[in-house]
Amino acid sequence: MARTSKASKNTVHYAIRPADLALHVFEVTLTIASPDPAGQVVSLPAWIPGSYMIREFARNIVQIRAECNGRKLRLAKLDKHSWRAARCDGALVLHYQVYAWDLSVRAAHLDQTHGFFNGTSTFLQVHGQEALPHVVEILPPDDANGSAAFAGWRVATSLRELKARRHRFGSYFADSYDELIDHPVEMGEFQLIRFEAHGVPHEMAVTGRVPNLDTVRLAADLKKMCEQQIALFEPATRRAPMERYVFLTMVVSDGYGGLEHRASTALICSRNDLPVKGQPAMSEGYRGFLGLCSHEYFHTWNVKRIKPAVFAPYDLREENYTPLLWLFEGFTSYYDDLVLVRAGLIDEKTYLGLLAKTLNGVLRGAGRLKQSVAESSFDAWTKYYRQDENAPNAVVSYYTKGSLVALLLDLTIRAGTRGKRSLDDVMRALWRRYGRDFYSPKAGTTGRGVTEADIDALFDEISGLSLKALLDRAVRGTKDLPLDEAFAKLAIAMAPTSKAGKPSLEVRTRKEGGDCKLASVHEGGAAHLAGLSAGDVLVAIDGLRVTASNLETTLARYRVGDNVVVHAFRRDELMTFSVALTADAAQHYAFEPRDKPLAAAKLRKAWLKVRG
Ligand SMILES: [Zn+2]
Repeated sequence: MARTSKASKNTVHYAIRPADLALHVFEVTLTIASPDPAGQVVSLPAWIPGSYMIREFARNIVQIRAECNGRKLRLAKLDKHSWRAARCDGALVLHYQVYAWDLSVRAAHLDQTHGFFNGTSTFLQVHGQEALPHVVEILPPDDANGSAAFAGWRVATSLRELKARRHRFGSYFADSYDELIDHPVEMGEFQLIRFEAHGVPHEMAVTGRVPNLDTVRLAADLKKMCEQQIALFEPATRRAPMERYVFLTMVVSDGYGGLEHRASTALICSRNDLPVKGQPAMSEGYRGFLGLCSHEYFHTWNVKRIKPAVFAPYDLREENYTPLLWLFEGFTSYYDDLVLVRAGLIDEKTYLGLLAKTLNGVLRGAGRLKQSVAESSFDAWTKYYRQDENAPNAVVSYYTKGSLVALLLDLTIRAGTRGKRSLDDVMRALWRRYGRDFYSPKAGTTGRGVTEADIDALFDEISGLSLKALLDRAVRGTKDLPLDEAFAKLAIAMAPTSKAGKPSLEVRTRKEGGDCKLASVHEGGAAHLAGLSAGDVLVAIDGLRVTASNLETTLARYRVGDNVVVHAFRRDELMTFSVALTADAAQHYAFEPRDKPLAAAKLRKAWLKVRG
């Protein structure tokens, strides 16, 4: 085999080529120079770090065959993820095809417009050789008919170039398998936006058509956000933890998501969320996109380097249980918008509005009274990531409630130390002790993760306060957080808004054609008490037709306590329900900054870095 000669004894070598764009297939050739004499085992991960769900990526391997010294070799399948090759005294070569038709940040996607892949979907792990350098040759699609249709294709990735030129096809490398699968790759004709943040080159590759994208504004805003975060963790040196950073952005009509990596992130967003040249106003969509970028960028420190102990290293074969996602996702969710206000990208009023929205969302679900954020973290694999119609009644989000826990702790430390300490100090301590040297351990600082006990102790040590009881309540308990008291200490009033108390069925609905289908029924609400169920299709209220668009206006004609007759289809059988309308139990709060007391207002300004 021609490729065999390229692989040295001390590297694992892959070549990946978009083989059939219309069939969405990548072809991969894996060359193992010195295979295990007992029979080389290879496998694909069951999950991708950052997305806590078993996805069994090996199911997308369509065909696989092995060769030894150019001759066909037996390959036995061991389980759904793994194979063992027969003994081979020479170079073992595996050829396999990967089906790539998942338009998400978690897997791989390929067609005539672009290719995208995560290593967890495409690169078999060579057992026993994970610590060797891994080389990847990224090849362009074949131009079989000489049309030059792919002449404009480039490559965007944070993988380091070996022989490739920046943004070109060619060979790239990683120090280990763990690193290899942490650099997703985009190929195609993307727009490239470049900027520096505290001296480190950053870029964003935007795939998908976006007319009049305001690239200048995007670069300027991202720079502010990134520099704010670098300075947060390294106020003295302003040193970023990576040599360069890449945002891979896939633009679609309607989408939102991101996945963090050590020197890059894969994002998916809606076209209309991106800024338009000549339209300088901050739209809600663009604010959300900046929040997403900020969130994934914060993970460069929090979860990619500061990690839960069980992620150091990851076990890619099965679930890795941790009670700490409230810190790694929740605190990241807290800082994503906080960084935007500190960077001057959004104002204080907008920020307090976002906090209120998060709080109101958390207070909506009865699941918060049954599951703690520590439990929600632990069960992420089967509950948070696999939500069904009962989720609002059973599950609490370690993202949203976790961000409120961060808020509560931050405000408590600021008030308790008269502004001398804050959550920023706790994050910096975590960074210094666990994160900074994670990938290049010095003596005494092996790449180790953090435990629940470490975190509890660190909070007390850094704040000088006794926070154990508060952590027990907020993290391991299910009672609502005492946020009003904490807010008062920073001169912020927390008060119910007029939205509360409207007549309601207490349901979430989903539009199905023109029909109004119940997506979930909130425990203790009017619909639940009358016997309506998730999946029921509403037909009429008091004999008047209900559609997907008129439920709210129909209910607005009634008062709390009124009895109405609801007709609904369940499995296409008409059923009748007598419903006593209850007041919308969702609590709606708004947060208002105050000028007094002066010391408290000063603490608030320091928190948000508001000038003046
Ligand atoms: Zn996250």
